[in-house]
Amino acid sequence: MVQQLPIAKDAVSEEPARKVRPPVDPSTLAHRDLRTGEWWREIPGFSGIDAATFHDHRWQMKHTITKPEALLEAVRGVASDAFLKDAAEGFRIAPMAVRVSPYLLSLVDWQSPYEDPIRRQFLPLASTRLPDHPKLTFDSLGEQGDAPVPGLTHRYPDKALFLALDTCPVYCRFCTRSYAVGPDQEMVEKVSLKASPKRWEEMLAYVASRPELEDIVISGGDAWNLRADQIRELGNKLLDIPNVRRMRFASKGPAVLPQKLVTDDEWVKALIEVVHRGRSMGKDVMLHTHFNHANEITEITQRGLGRLFEAGVFVRNQTVLQRGVNDTVAAQTMLTRRLAWVNVHPYYVYQHDMVKGTEELRTTVATAESLEKHVRGSAAGFNTPTFVVDAPGGGGKRTVHSYEYYDHVTGISVYTAPSVKPGQVFLYFDPIDLLPEEGRERWADPAEHAKMIAEAAEIAHEAMRST
Ligand SMILES: *Cc1c(COP(=O)(O)O)cnc(C)c1O
Ligand code: SF4
Repeated sequence: MVQQLPIAKDAVSEEPARKVRPPVDPSTLAHRDLRTGEWWREIPGFSGIDAATFHDHRWQMKHTITKPEALLEAVRGVASDAFLKDAAEGFRIAPMAVRVSPYLLSLVDWQSPYEDPIRRQFLPLASTRLPDHPKLTFDSLGEQGDAPVPGLTHRYPDKALFLALDTCPVYCRFCTRSYAVGPDQEMVEKVSLKASPKRWEEMLAYVASRPELEDIVISGGDAWNLRADQIRELGNKLLDIPNVRRMRFASKGPAVLPQKLVTDDEWVKALIEVVHRGRSMGKDVMLHTHFNHANEITEITQRGLGRLFEAGVFVRNQTVLQRGVNDTVAAQTMLTRRLAWVNVHPYYVYQHDMVKGTEELRTTVATAESLEKHVRGSAAGFNTPTFVVDAPGGGGKRTVHSYEYYDHVTGISVYTAPSVKPGQVFLYFDPIDLLPEEGRERWADPAEHAKMIAEAAEIAHEAMRST
């Protein structure tokens, strides 16, 4: 039984209640305490590294770890043998490429690696692995289906996704674009999206041929891995297309290798140049990044981002909602506030896409709805992210609350996207292990799958007819 909540006084009485807010508990200001000092020295492999070296992007890139064995070797001595064994097996069965920067590795709390939000994002374990959802498909967002030329997704009326390259400064096990990003794994055959001049020319020609395209997302892969001359070339070529009015370079870099903003002067200069040239033409160029947890924002992040802010480069953030990483009110509020503290605007929080081998990181639509309710109001409106589901099958981003129907038992939510793909419905599936018993039982029986989907679609259609 839910206890009845009191009705707000102001809503029912003529006299407004006048109250001074009580002084805050200092712990509510913890988002300002950015990690500083030489924390990485606690890890045996990095104990001899001074700050100037650790915060040099060349050192970070050179020491970025790409082999599971090397990764586990680096934390031997701080992580338990049982954990190392679990992770070695986790890597063996994971359909992913490994790439982790020393910086990321140093931010993990090796005293409790099972719970650590950064470990959970980058190091798979065998013991926590769950079976994939039966409705999971490769390229679940259908990006290739909406691609008129390889690597250019034109799904929305006025904007397009320009996949410039297929490498990243790190590889995230939960990546939506595992269909293209990173080296081939044994288990998955990838689509080739190399940073080739010929492919870029075809994509640019398409953008120029479509007068409705005003907004271009330059992604990949990750713009962090474009050279300074490539940032200039691509940035300027896009700016030169008259219909292009807005561009965003998308990069996870600020979250995983912020050192680049401090020491890669050439690259930073190139980005600032493109932004300033755009501004002189009345065109908006921004950086979009991808922080998932407040622990990813340290004093070095603030220094790097401060440099962009000072130069008038604005940054927005997109977060992926992940179980055990940022699925609590405390974690989301902290992230939102810390982003604002370093002048990054929280833009989206995404429902986790349906990606192979990451079921333990997904959570329910109900969780996203509840978090949204709590986060909204905790910061300025422009610093409040919108919680969205990128509807599997190519429906595009929908706010989590906007489903036509959501069955909490089967975990099926039904969305429509009238401005993107009118007349179709799009389904998202909650992870099965978080469903009530009745839902888990139905998914255990393959004969029930089509029935559950048909039921949900039917109820959604009924609801739509009656409104
Ligand atoms: C996310 C996305 C965009 C940009 O969408 P916004 O809502 O403007 O951030 C454009 N094209 C594709 C295919 C996308 O997935
Ligand atoms: S950095 Fe972005 S594109 Fe690259 S693996 Fe991570 S989520 Fe995917």
